[in-house]
Amino acid sequence: MRASSSCSLLTQRGNDNPLECVAFRAALLSMTSDALREVRVLRPKRAAPADAVRPTRAEVNLAALRANLRTVRGFADGAAIWAVLKADGYGHGAPAVARTLERAGVNGFCVALFEEGVELRDAGIRVPILVMGGYYGGVHYEIVRRGLVPVVYDLAQVEGFARLVRSGAIDGPVRVHLKVDTGMARLGVTMRQLPQFVTAIAQMEEVCVEGLMSHFASADEWGSDDTERQLALFDEVRLVLRHAGIVPALCHVANSAGVFRKMGNMDAVRPGIALFGVSPFASGDAGPQLQQAMRVRTEVVALRDVPAGERIGYGGSYITRRASRIATVAMGYADGLPRLLSNRGDILVRGRRSPIVGAVSMDMTMIDVTDIEGASVRDEAVVMGAQEGEYGRGFISAAEIASHAGTVGYEVLTSISRRVPRFYREP
Ligand SMILES: *Cc1c(COP(=O)(O)O)cnc(C)c1O
Repeated sequence: MRASSSCSLLTQRGNDNPLECVAFRAALLSMTSDALREVRVLRPKRAAPADAVRPTRAEVNLAALRANLRTVRGFADGAAIWAVLKADGYGHGAPAVARTLERAGVNGFCVALFEEGVELRDAGIRVPILVMGGYYGGVHYEIVRRGLVPVVYDLAQVEGFARLVRSGAIDGPVRVHLKVDTGMARLGVTMRQLPQFVTAIAQMEEVCVEGLMSHFASADEWGSDDTERQLALFDEVRLVLRHAGIVPALCHVANSAGVFRKMGNMDAVRPGIALFGVSPFASGDAGPQLQQAMRVRTEVVALRDVPAGERIGYGGSYITRRASRIATVAMGYADGLPRLLSNRGDILVRGRRSPIVGAVSMDMTMIDVTDIEGASVRDEAVVMGAQEGEYGRGFISAAEIASHAGTVGYEVLTSISRRVPRFYREP
């Protein structure tokens, strides 16, 4: 109907240049309403590479990002790829990741927060950016002004955008993506609210439903049939919208696991973790060949030889069973090495695994290098990723760390703290 045809026009313009997809009134200066105020965006500062004194750093391999994008694309059945870069690009640094993926031909980005969208726009990203979280407090105007696409799931959000158009502050319609809850019970219009919601939004000329989305709860579990159920509900939702004259140009539901299982590859897909080379599957099953993009390395900063029976670290939770050589490495839980790795995880030195001994402390961790003959202060110590050295090639995956810490690779990646500078490398 009327709303959807003007929406598709907007979409086409958006594809050319999302920053110009909405026209603005020139009378910005006369706007005094609270809704139009300039927004200061919270931006926590991370240690910059140039400030790095300590040898602890996260290295992000940009070629791995591109290779993973190709792998994901190979599974996506021609769907547009809208890469998910929430939480600072899963800890990799969203602007650098976005620039790399944009150049590699990604079709759009998804972020959780308005602030994250602003960061990408400020970094010069031109492709569409979808803000998925839906907290638009006083920033409706800024969302539109910055060419960000809001996800909506309640009428108050939609009304906020409609009001802006009615006030003349912006030209409508504002394109939005509608989120429906098909089984995650987190965000989205519920199936019960849907008929009423759709009736209301279909009558609003100020917004157009460019996209329709939902999110999988269990796509990473091979045995579950939740995903089929969610897809069936999603089809119902499309019918309800169609009856109201709304035919979204972009339907999307698949996360990384969905793409690899070829479940929900529609107009677009929303992969996140797979682009960073970490398996989305709960089993840690790598599925397709992915390349872990992040490598976290530090160095041995101290070495000591201790007799058998020596207590190591806080609480003496490790007691040496033999005369041992203990190395201290410059990374601790405040950097994102989970304390749950105390007496459990390994760290690579000279290409070989050395066990973590004693409690991981805030800034440092001790490892037993008795079997790494020649281990010295200044040796590289790899906490996550690959290392080649005189004793061979070792690899520690995010999934391995996650399994020790009772969590998922997602949390391991996003926990590498802002104290750790990110360095970007081509191969
Ligand atoms: C995080 C997220 C994704 C991406 O999930 P991955 O498992 O990292 O691929 C997709 N959609 C939504 C709504 C998300 O929150």
